[in-house]
Amino acid sequence: MANDWKPRTKLVHAGSRRSQYNEVSEAIFLTQGFVYDSAEQAEGRFVELGEDEYIYARYGNPTVRMFEDRIAALEGAEDAFATASGMAAVNGALMSGLKAGDHVVAARALFGSCLYICETLMPRYGIEVTFVDGTDLDQWRKAVRPDTRLCFLEGISNPTLEVIDIRAVADIAHAAGALLVVDNVFATPIFQRTLELGADVVVYSATKHIDGQGRCLGGVVLGTREFIRKTVEPYLKHTGGALSPFNAWVMLKGLETLELRCNAQADAALKIARAIEGHGGLERVIYPFLESHPQRELAQRQMTRGGTVFSLEVRGGKEGAFRFLNALEIVKISNNLGDAKSLVTHPATTTHQRLSPEARARLGISDGLVRLSVGLEDPDDLQNDIRRALDAV
Ligand SMILES: *Cc1c(COP(=O)(O)O)cnc(C)c1O
Repeated sequence: MANDWKPRTKLVHAGSRRSQYNEVSEAIFLTQGFVYDSAEQAEGRFVELGEDEYIYARYGNPTVRMFEDRIAALEGAEDAFATASGMAAVNGALMSGLKAGDHVVAARALFGSCLYICETLMPRYGIEVTFVDGTDLDQWRKAVRPDTRLCFLEGISNPTLEVIDIRAVADIAHAAGALLVVDNVFATPIFQRTLELGADVVVYSATKHIDGQGRCLGGVVLGTREFIRKTVEPYLKHTGGALSPFNAWVMLKGLETLELRCNAQADAALKIARAIEGHGGLERVIYPFLESHPQRELAQRQMTRGGTVFSLEVRGGKEGAFRFLNALEIVKISNNLGDAKSLVTHPATTTHQRLSPEARARLGISDGLVRLSVGLEDPDDLQNDIRRALDAV
């Protein structure tokens, strides 16, 4: 039974549908719509869609459905809705179930566009948001109220790689009658069983590890069938966040190698982080599975590996960080992560530039902080490249 398959088997086979030609590789149904055999059949489909019936690609498409079923099988979720980008997924997961007068509690360390939704959009629609330090459980306990509908967090914060205790926050959210929504990009569906830890809804930017080769934008919301079909789907299908069938196909093929890639990248990340810790050009190395990480025990309880990203505090502030970035040859300067190519970012001047210096300081984003997403290159080559660039600092 497909439910008993191990992750790697699910990643290759789950959700497959074959046409009358019995193709081996999944077909791309690059079609906006579907033809009905009769007026009665069209009428029936608009009343209620059966399993594997489609009417319009904004509502659903066989290639998109294969991607949704495959990622749902991997995550252990009842259902999934795929979206045009990670942000369409975050927006759908958060806004589809909220209304004016509701209260939300969110961790402060959020991806910039997630912060925009919580800080700027929600209040504009009469939704009150309380921000907390996600690692401080007392702040979550104090922030939830009887009208709290939803708690939102990124399990590992970007770019400081702090780890949030998902089970503990889930318990606090549930005691208040709220849902816990987790943006799980950094932990990936491979390293963490986020629903089993108590999250109700899990969101991915498929642009990151799921594509993993820097080609397409995409996203997905996972949860109970009730939540996905009754709350998320009506919102997203009527507001136009649908994933294109071509991009769904790219993501489907990405899933086939997801576990192999994530494990190789995370093993390399740990190996390199260990090897460069203590280098004279560095204040510190941040990686959840390093002995020096303050939450290593929690990270090891929640995850099987520490993720594919580490952060470095380079000596000499912005100047030192820029010298490091500019001296790298294999590692490219870019702001994606989870890619086959190793990529490095200076958050203070790029992804977190819009924040005030005080807000950056509160999130621990110093001028010397650099985020490095480890790719699929040979770890020894990467280590030499990074070490040489650190010598230049
Ligand atoms: C990239 C990212 C997003 C947004 O995804 P897009 O595919 O770029 O829309 C949301 N959350 C996190 C944590 C991300 O890393």
